[in-house]
Amino acid sequence: MITSESDSIARVVSTGSLPGWNEVESLTSAAHERYLTLDDGEIADYIPVLAAVDPSLFGLSVIEVNGAAHDAGDSGHPFSIQSISKAFVYALVCEEYGHAGVKERVGVNNTGLPFNSVMALELNDGHPMNPMVNAGAIATTALIPGTSSAEQWEVIRTGLSAFAGRQLVMDGEVYASEMATNFRNKAIARLLESYGRIDADPLETVDIYTRQCALLVNAHDLAIMGATLADGGINPMTGQRVVSPEVCGDTLAMLAASGMYERSGEWLFEIGIPAKSGVAGGIVAIAPGKGAIGAFSPRLNSAGNSVRGQRAIAYLSRGLGLNLFASKASSRTQG
Ligand code: GLN
Repeated sequence: MITSESDSIARVVSTGSLPGWNEVESLTSAAHERYLTLDDGEIADYIPVLAAVDPSLFGLSVIEVNGAAHDAGDSGHPFSIQSISKAFVYALVCEEYGHAGVKERVGVNNTGLPFNSVMALELNDGHPMNPMVNAGAIATTALIPGTSSAEQWEVIRTGLSAFAGRQLVMDGEVYASEMATNFRNKAIARLLESYGRIDADPLETVDIYTRQCALLVNAHDLAIMGATLADGGINPMTGQRVVSPEVCGDTLAMLAASGMYERSGEWLFEIGIPAKSGVAGGIVAIAPGKGAIGAFSPRLNSAGNSVRGQRAIAYLSRGLGLNLFASKASSRTQG
C-alpha cells in the first residue's frame, strides 16, 4: 500500500492559468489547420456500422474552466463516445463507492495489453486491473446503482448528460451493430463471472456497457465533459456539481495511467496530460484547473487512438502550456 487514511491531507491544485482568450482561440484554429491534411491511420471496422463514417471529419474544441469555448472544424459532428464513456461512468461509480472501494474491486494499474484483452484477465486471476480496459469497464458498469438494468442505464445516461450539460441520446444503430458482434465483450463478462468478479448479470451488464458506448457526443461535448473533471466536478457551462473534486482527482489519475490503452506511458511522456480515447475517433484530454480539449477524427493508430486527434492535442498541450510535468528553475538568483 502506498498511502493510508492517516496520510490524508487536503489536495492542492498546482496549476497556472491558460493564456488569454485570443491566444487559445488562434491556437485551436492553428491545430485544426495543421493536421487537417494528415491521412494516416485506419477507421475501426470491428463494429460494422463505424466503418461507414466519413474519414475526412475533424473537429476540435477547447473549453476553459471559466466556460470560454473555442471550436474548430467539425466540432459539432456527432459520433459514438465508445471507450471515453469508461472515464465518466468510473467517476459516477467512484462518487457512489469512494476511493478505496473501487480501487479494491476494479483496480488501478495498467495492463500493458490491448483494451479488449482476455489474457490480461487470465494473467491476473480474473482481476479486471483498471476501469479503462473493457474488463474493468464492464466490472465498473456492474457497480452502477439501480434495482434493474433499465434503472442502471438511466443513471448512466443522466450522469453522462450532466457532464456534457445537455441530454445525450444513444445511437440505436451503433448499439445494435455492436450487440450483434461483441462476442468478445460477452466472453470477458462471463470470464469475470467465472472468477466471481461481477455480482450483476454479466450479459445484462454488457448490454448496458454497449449502450453507454453508443451515446452520441461531439468534440465540443467531450471538451465540456473533460472541463467538468478539470473544474473540480462542476460543469463550467451549467454550473451544476456533477461529482466531487476527490472523484475528479481519482478519475484523472486513472486516465493518466490507462486512458490511452497500452500507449498511456508514451502519451504521458510526450504530452503530459490525462486523456481518454474511443474507437469512433474521439479523444478528451484534461488540464486540471485549466480546461479540456475534445477532438474527433475517425482514423486510428494501431492502439485505437485517433491519429489527428493525438497530434492536435500534442500541439495544443505544448502551445497552451498544459504538460503537468513541465519543470523550470525557480526565480532565485544563482551563486
Ligand atoms: N464499445 C467498444 C468495445 O467495447 C469500445 C472500445 C473502445 O472505444 N476502445 O469494444
